[in-house]
Formats: sequence, structure tokens, C-alpha cells
Amino acid sequence: MIQISPDNIADRFMRYVQVDTQSDPTSSAHPTTEKQKDLGKLLLKELFGMGITNASTDEFGYVYATIPSNSDKKNIPAICFCAHVDTAPDCSGTNVKPILHRYYDGKDIILPDDTTQVLRISDSPYLKNHLNSGVITTSGATLLGADDKSGVAAIMEAALYFIQNPAVKHGDIKILFTPDEEVGQGTAKVDMQKLGAQFGYTLDGGEAGSLEDETFSADGALITVHGVIVHPGYAKDKLVNALKVAAAILDALPKNEWSPETTEKREGFVHPTAVNGIAEKATIQFIVRDFTLAGLQQHHERLKKIATDTVAKFPGAVMEYAAQESLCRRSHTAGRAYNEERKHPRWYRWQPFQFYGNALS
Ligand SMILES: [Zn+2]
Repeated sequence: MIQISPDNIADRFMRYVQVDTQSDPTSSAHPTTEKQKDLGKLLLKELFGMGITNASTDEFGYVYATIPSNSDKKNIPAICFCAHVDTAPDCSGTNVKPILHRYYDGKDIILPDDTTQVLRISDSPYLKNHLNSGVITTSGATLLGADDKSGVAAIMEAALYFIQNPAVKHGDIKILFTPDEEVGQGTAKVDMQKLGAQFGYTLDGGEAGSLEDETFSADGALITVHGVIVHPGYAKDKLVNALKVAAAILDALPKNEWSPETTEKREGFVHPTAVNGIAEKATIQFIVRDFTLAGLQQHHERLKKIATDTVAKFPGAVMEYAAQESLCRRSHTAGRAYNEERKHPRWYRWQPFQFYGNALS
């Protein structure tokens, strides 16, 4: 049974979250923010410190490392464990102050830097699984960055475990830390040749013990509506307000299906994420998700038809529909291919690690 010290992994995690690694969706650079390299450099130093000599980082902010096979067996596939170092652009990642609540007793946790932020079991039932354990939160002013520094910390701690326990036999273990996952660029500059792994597992998000063996494809769609602008004093029967057309398109979307709030599991959906505009011109940004490429196509066609039919009720208005294919399409396809071949190394049902000391979640 693997034994991991909860204090060690908590310290490690809290060390990593304090490094600001927020990515930036408006940047076309790789990485989108230079500061993501700060954590990469720290990880590299720590990998060297463990005695892992085959480790490097590159100009794009990726960190690659290998724990060489210590098995006599030949032809063991190299397996990669991957996590992303960046945090989401939605909320600040600067000056993160993690707080370790050593014994979570189920009472509300009020975050000190913003007392309107309260963690309650009624809002987050998952917290119940961690009663009497340690819980780490942000101070309230920033993201914590557990997505995905918990994955980074888990991989680093596992690496240390393998280095310190040579009696545990394994093939080549490849470690990959990527930048820019939160802005859809996580795989943009990854060097698969250099990585040299036949299989890979990403440690990111989800409840402890869950494993996902496929992912959706995510596209974007941008609807642009052009209205007809006339001076309001002379507008009767002439003016067409693009904002009202955009509102009508949103209102025409189904209410009880085809959205993240009304679907689950492998059901696809469309999801408006931003509306911008003035009376003359308005845009609606959507994300479009499905587990098949044919499904994605159908969502685009359906959305376009709803928008076209709606705009037709506003003579003079003109609409453009742009399907925005994302990088995720490719990773989805690759994931499915592996899954369908069923060639994954066998994985075992998750069991709680046997912690020594106080259990920490
Ligand atoms: Zn993530």
C-alpha cells in the first residue's frame, strides 16, 4: 500500500498555489503568460532535488521528466502522468494565501479576506466526505488554484515515492506539466516525441477516486447580428435593434433541454457565454459540446437554424454564424481511439491511500 504523508503533500500543494500562474485568453504567445514559467522552474528544481536527472523545461513553459524503468521486464509501455500549471483567468491568482483547516468539523468556513464568501455543506455536499479531515481553502480574495495544482502536487509526491521506494517496480514513468490548459492551449506546443509515452493519464479536477476515459469535443460558435440604425425620431417601420434580435435568439433556445443546466453524462449542449453589442450590432458567443463530431455538427446546424428563423422575423436584420473549431476536437478523437481499442494498461479501482498521521483531503 502506498503511504503518503498528508503534511508533506499539503505543504507541497500550498507551496505551488502561492506561485501566480494565471493564463490569459487574449494572448497569442506560448505560454500566454511568462509567469507560468515560475512554477515550471520551481518544479524542475524540485525534480532535480529528488535525484531525477532527466528533467527539462522549454521556452513554451512545458516541463518534461522521466523516472527511468527499474524493472527487468522488457516492453513495458511508458506511461505519462500530466497536469497543468496554469489557473483560470476568471479570478485573480496573485498573492494566493492558502489556509489549512486542519480538522474540518462541518461548520461553515468563512473566508477571512472576503467574509461574504462562505463554504457550506448545504451548497457543496461534497464537503461531507471530508469531515474530520484537513481541508485547504483560499483566503477569499483569489482563486485557490487547486485546479490543477492538486494534480501537480499529487504527481510530484508520487515521483518522490517512486524514487524513495526502488523496491516498487515500474516501467518508464513520464511526467508532463503543461501551461495554458485553462485557455484551450494546453497541448498547443507539446512535443510528443520528446515526451515518448505510449499512454497517459491527466490528473485534473473531479472527485477523489473518479476516472474518466473519454472527453467531449468543445467548439465555439459566434452569432453576429447586424441591425438597421435610423435616427430614433424617424425610426418607425425602419429601425431594427440588434440587441432585441439577439435577445430573441436567446429566448428561442429550448428551455428544457440542450443546455448544461438541463443535460448530464454524454448529452451534448450549447451554452451562451457572452452577449455584447449596441443597437447597431450584437454578438452572442456560445460553447458547443458533444462526445461525437457528428453530434457537434448537428448542434451547429440546429443553432444556426434557430438563429436564422428568429432573425427572419426582423426584416432588415442580417446574421452571420461562425463555427469555431477548437483544439479539443483533436484530443477528443485521440482519446476515443485509445478507449475503443481498449489497450489501456489495466487500472484498478481507486482505494483511499493509507495515510499515516492525520488523514488529509
Ligand atoms: Zn484543470
